[in-house]
Amino acid sequence: MVKLNKRTIVLEDKDQIQGFPKYTFSLTPLDKLDQYKNKTDRFIDVIAKISGVSNVAKVPTTSGDQQMRRVVLLEDLKGNMIELSLSGKRALEFDGDQVLDVGQQHHVIAIFVGTLVKLYKGEYTFLSGTSACRWYINENDIAEIKAFQKSLPSEPVPIKKTYLQNDDATHKFEEKSLEQLKHVDPFLDMGQRYQCTATIIGITENQTWCYKACKICNSAIIQKENGYKCTKEGCPSTQFEWKYKIPFIASDHTYNLEFMFFEKKGMELIGKSASTLRKQYEPKEIPPDITSWIGYKFTFVVRVLSKKSVKTIDPSFEVLMIKEKYQKEPIISFISSSGVVPAESSSSTMAEYKELPLLVPITSKDIEKKERSTSQPEHTEETQDMDIEPSGIWEESQISNKRSFGDPNYDKQETTDDKDDLPQFKKIRSTHSQGKSKK
Ligand SMILES: [Zn+2]
Repeated sequence: MVKLNKRTIVLEDKDQIQGFPKYTFSLTPLDKLDQYKNKTDRFIDVIAKISGVSNVAKVPTTSGDQQMRRVVLLEDLKGNMIELSLSGKRALEFDGDQVLDVGQQHHVIAIFVGTLVKLYKGEYTFLSGTSACRWYINENDIAEIKAFQKSLPSEPVPIKKTYLQNDDATHKFEEKSLEQLKHVDPFLDMGQRYQCTATIIGITENQTWCYKACKICNSAIIQKENGYKCTKEGCPSTQFEWKYKIPFIASDHTYNLEFMFFEKKGMELIGKSASTLRKQYEPKEIPPDITSWIGYKFTFVVRVLSKKSVKTIDPSFEVLMIKEKYQKEPIISFISSSGVVPAESSSSTMAEYKELPLLVPITSKDIEKKERSTSQPEHTEETQDMDIEPSGIWEESQISNKRSFGDPNYDKQETTDDKDDLPQFKKIRSTHSQGKSKK
């Protein structure tokens, strides 16, 4: 085992050195692998008989990307078995066809070096072979391989061909409306991926579009009295780079939810890295490169952000894949109808009505509220209004009238002749704002 740091200099030695080993490995028996679970401080080398080989398949990674993968089934002399998952380039480099071919009538004994012991779904141990992984198969000048061969029965068991399911972008994820996604459990449904189609209608208020990401683990880095510190327990990093964490709000007419874009998907959407945009914009200042996506409809593959969703009423989701991008559409229909649309309506039925001109929703009078506020002692109401806008008595009564209906923007509205008639008043206002957005 050689450890390198930033001061290590690697020089090529062109001289032939006597006794320099052609192969180097330090074997760990298959039944001793458990103690190295999820440890990354050293690589694991194993020797085994190959008893199964899969095809190469495209499978999704935990980050939502796709990767080539091949699974090789390994068996030791005691009959212990473990799966070795070769990924990326290694999946293609491993000559599965030849191993299967030779393996029908001969033993195939291999030493795999540079693997890691990992856990699948928290319980199933497997070996992972990525870029550091290499192998020596049936090498007759390796004593360990010959010794292994000697202990095997002379009649070999033919190597099985196993099938690994392709799981590419055409794969169907469970389709859900936002109303259904709202009920996703941040713990029970953790890691579950869903497909949904929704329009971006805004960005969560008072949030930043980027964050200081740890250069080692991507966790948030915070500033302490004595410099920067990673928030992940045990992470020694003190360096960060700016990365995307865009809290888009999307709607599909059934509900509105938050959909987070992290660095990879943010770059895919915007075409620039967060650190590039950060040079021009403060974290609280949403760049036009981001806001210009408001109004666009997408089909996303998402998963729930467990930690974040525990603290909030509605769950937040991470966008893992942008499957489809549709045309921009007027978002006014989403905003004015929020909370009014019945839960049963799904995005697919709504799509049929896309061609129709937008209707202006009219909400009912809130009679109960009006009665309550008029029954309050009059001076209280006046005092509150006076604090905000001290003006003539006629103005006051107008303001308190509007205020009874709970509109937070009452002081910004235009005066109309129908100020006493609430439905009429609402209608004019909606028409007005719709006309504005079309300019
Ligand atoms: Zn870290």
